[in-house]
Amino acid sequence: MRAKPGSIILLTLLLSACSEKVPEEVAYDPAHDYFSFANTDQFITQHLELDLTVDFDTQQLRGSATLAMRKLDPNSTDVVLDTRDLGISDARVLLADGVSIPAEHRFGESDGTKGTPLIVTLPDVARSATEFRLKLEYATSPDSTALQWLPPDLTAGGKHPLMFSQSQTIHARSWVPLQDTPAVRVTYEATIRTPPELLAVMSANNDPLTPRRGEYRFDMPQPIPSYLVAIAVGNIFFVPLGEQTGVYAEPELLETSVFEFADTQEMLEQAERLFGPYEWGRYDLLVLPPSFPFGGMENPRLSFITPSLLAGDRSLVSVIAHELAHSWSGNLVTNATWRDQWLNEGMTSYLESRLMEVIYDKDRVDEERVLLYRELLLDLETVRPDLQALAPRLDDGDPDDFQGTIHYNKGQLFLQYLENAFGRDVFDRFLFSYFETFAFQTITTERFLDYLDEELLQTETSEVSRADAEQWLYQPGLPADAPVPSSSTLKAVEALATVWAQGEIEVTEIPVKRWSPQATIHFINSLPPDLANERLAELDSGLGFSATRNAEIGRTWFIQVAQRRHTAAYEQLEQHLNRYGRGRLIEPVYLALAQNGSDLELAREMFERARDAYHPLTEANIAGVLALDES
Ligand SMILES: [Zn+2]
Repeated sequence: MRAKPGSIILLTLLLSACSEKVPEEVAYDPAHDYFSFANTDQFITQHLELDLTVDFDTQQLRGSATLAMRKLDPNSTDVVLDTRDLGISDARVLLADGVSIPAEHRFGESDGTKGTPLIVTLPDVARSATEFRLKLEYATSPDSTALQWLPPDLTAGGKHPLMFSQSQTIHARSWVPLQDTPAVRVTYEATIRTPPELLAVMSANNDPLTPRRGEYRFDMPQPIPSYLVAIAVGNIFFVPLGEQTGVYAEPELLETSVFEFADTQEMLEQAERLFGPYEWGRYDLLVLPPSFPFGGMENPRLSFITPSLLAGDRSLVSVIAHELAHSWSGNLVTNATWRDQWLNEGMTSYLESRLMEVIYDKDRVDEERVLLYRELLLDLETVRPDLQALAPRLDDGDPDDFQGTIHYNKGQLFLQYLENAFGRDVFDRFLFSYFETFAFQTITTERFLDYLDEELLQTETSEVSRADAEQWLYQPGLPADAPVPSSSTLKAVEALATVWAQGEIEVTEIPVKRWSPQATIHFINSLPPDLANERLAELDSGLGFSATRNAEIGRTWFIQVAQRRHTAAYEQLEQHLNRYGRGRLIEPVYLALAQNGSDLELAREMFERARDAYHPLTEANIAGVLALDES
């Protein structure tokens, strides 16, 4: 996933309240998933069958989920599954000989974050079976935290409704009753019934040529964790980009998407060369409406993508490189629990930078690294020290809030450090064998550390010790010998911001058209804090920041506009908040308004006007930023 740094602030607030609750004597088990109710040491799911009807009128999915399970503990009689706001109307056990037996089921005690455990008691005749299928008839709630139901007027076409899922981190349980932990991998198949004019797509084998008749079959033969089970339904069409790659979108977005993401096939080929075989068959993109809360979501075979990447100049395709790289780090080798999330996100951010270097150039990657480093240093000033470790003790709170620059940027920096220490060739061989060794497995940070130790740290020439690696993984801040990214282009840009602010050059002499988006972002961030607002207006009318089509430049600019109370640009700032629904692009702008000492009320008014078009996750985050009590 490409996440939203704004939430790290919330995280600090939330977790500082929570962690005191854990009694010291409870032993912390890093391999245990504290965010799932499922008794995976007693039963394990191997395959999932979905049969669901998509009802746009009631905003519900209705049908059945059948879990093919294996019993690991012969004495266990109760299967515990994760659910959130699901109505379960029937549970039955299906045995190999075709016998179907009703099973007693009840809900356990609900938890505000984790949802509600569903406890199914195996009937007597099924207790000796080591393998069985558990079929649950159910319906989702219109408030499902995974599903967003968009009315026609919130889509690009404006004529048909659209729905999509976002299961990461622990939201699959709000549309499928299952063992909702990344530690369990399942294959799946599905039958999806929709209004006949719409197309359903899933993180499975989509057939672009399938006739539109309102019933679609899917098969996902590779085992994946629950957070990668994904669905979208809408007026969606397909255009190929290359032999194995293509893009799905509403017709209104197809042409621009095809232009923007034209390099996808080449990225896939380069990624295979660097990281090993692509194990998933096709790699397609699904471009969603603006309310999609993230930059992208690496649903296997079909990454879900925000339309905020459609800048018109291919300048934001690093997000595609990121989602594609997840086909190795995350989807192929998966973090065992959300506490190990740096294994997904730090590794992917590193692979993304390697891909960008091959497809584009090293200067651009260096610029990006400098910006990420700057974000990281800012967050290290505010994040609680024990949460600054890549693999902290994490047994409480909401894993959605546990997302941010520590995992992404510090994780990437750690891998960059290893690359520098061992040399690119050696480190590349390590990565290649890492993906091969742990393919289709979930691993903990500790397993990664052992493997790193065996393969690299114990080699005779290694100058990195296990203790060095442990400092990155378990200690706050950055080690003294952490790499410091630098970019000569950005240094020049910084200098230019200063000389312009001092009145030594004119706006027309700033060569912004020749710059990368990263350089422009750095220029905006390098403006002196005491710059008069008239000068900001001069800059804006000369360089057109308020009217930019590049969402990242807009984000950076409007954060500054809000922090500096440059009210002349507030109308365009509000347009930015209405145009995008991706958390990263808007949450920090709301935060800057809320914290500038004057505009909290104004921010709340803007939020009221915009919120209907936001995803529930984004909406909840912003409500938190604006200190609105929504409970
Ligand atoms: Zn990611």
